[in-house]
Amino acid sequence: MDLINTYKTFLDRGKTERECVSVSLELAEKAGFRDISKYDSLKTGDKVYIVNKDKSLALFIIGRKSLQDGINFVTAHIDSPRLDLKMKPVYEKDGIVYLNTHYYGGIKKYQWVTMPLALHGVVFRKDGSRADICIGEDEEGPSFCISDILPHMAQDQMKKGASEFIDGENLDIVAGLNLKGDEKEGGKNEILRIIEKEYKIKEEDFISAEIEVVPAGKSRSLGFDSSMVMAYGQDDRVCAYTALQALLDSSCDLETTACTLLVDKEEIGSVGATGMDSEMLPNMVSEIMDKAGEYSSLALRRCLRNSHMLSSDVTAAFDPLNGDLYDKMNASFMSKGVSFEKYTGSRGKSGSSDACPEFIAKLRKTLDDAGVVYQMNEMSKVDVGGGGTIAKFAAFYGMDVIDCGVCVLSMHSPWEITAAKDIESAYSAYKAFFTI
Ligand code: MN
Ligand code: MN
Repeated sequence: MDLINTYKTFLDRGKTERECVSVSLELAEKAGFRDISKYDSLKTGDKVYIVNKDKSLALFIIGRKSLQDGINFVTAHIDSPRLDLKMKPVYEKDGIVYLNTHYYGGIKKYQWVTMPLALHGVVFRKDGSRADICIGEDEEGPSFCISDILPHMAQDQMKKGASEFIDGENLDIVAGLNLKGDEKEGGKNEILRIIEKEYKIKEEDFISAEIEVVPAGKSRSLGFDSSMVMAYGQDDRVCAYTALQALLDSSCDLETTACTLLVDKEEIGSVGATGMDSEMLPNMVSEIMDKAGEYSSLALRRCLRNSHMLSSDVTAAFDPLNGDLYDKMNASFMSKGVSFEKYTGSRGKSGSSDACPEFIAKLRKTLDDAGVVYQMNEMSKVDVGGGGTIAKFAAFYGMDVIDCGVCVLSMHSPWEITAAKDIESAYSAYKAFFTI
């Protein structure tokens, strides 16, 4: 159960990409990993990491074989669906002060109203100084919420479909009241005065900020038997944490170089400089090859092409109350182990990467030899839905890649549910994979 407790602490301390990177670095440093700038050269057994813009991170254990023979990557994403504050967030309307938001990733908007919310993020002032923001987690301090229409007056709202039930533009945070009834003295200006006094942030500083609105509160164990974890952001931090811990616990004497890669922006298509649809991965691997004395553009291509990757992302757990959405024979069940998906995508697998059966056979052998419990999965019935992962961006380099992660009940909701046994299975699978 130790793994589950440390996982819950990781979730509570890492509710944004930046927080996840910072907690991961703390754990990695303790395990002997050092920033690449600390090394003049790299040799077998060295533990090294590269941080990209504080929002993605690669950690390596250098193996005995040449890097040109490939790297074993376990890649998970550390961004999760949430609301982001807009660049000009603070406004007042008829006596209530709000923070304007724009959601990030696939959410059901109605799930985000009338629950405690917290603000996590960073603000950079014009002088370059930085304020780290975490407001709403302390039970004594301020908290935030999005209001909803009372049922007594919701006749029109209740007739709408769930996607129009809550208007995206109105998904705004209640942040204060105009207590003085005076525009100059009260309301927005008073809230801005409090923000400046408490956090040394002026209204214009929100322009250079990255503040995420997330469910407030800690992860919990779920059920009378404590067999599950209920927490925000388990997609995909359940795979991120287990991938990280598996590497930290791995031997320094590996045949093949091992890498846990934690990436950003998966939930909006892996875009941007910190997502997988960028030169981030070849850039990081080039730096490693350079310090190992192996870099050339051909050597880099060989390394990537010869690599193996687990695209470690969560999938849907079979939901008995909505069982007709699943092909039961090919679904993942809670507590039956980590799930492998040959392909993801939607409408005839569009947006997927199709894992080679040769690679899957090799994985089966490795996992069976290590005694890992696992299951094979297709997320839903044909044409019910679907989605993409980072797998296709890895496959672009010619490497073998398969989706592999923990199944989740009510994925993308504010409080997602996983099974403790699946978390343990993911950890064991990733650890075994580093020896493939
Ligand atoms: Mn995911
Ligand atoms: Mn997701």
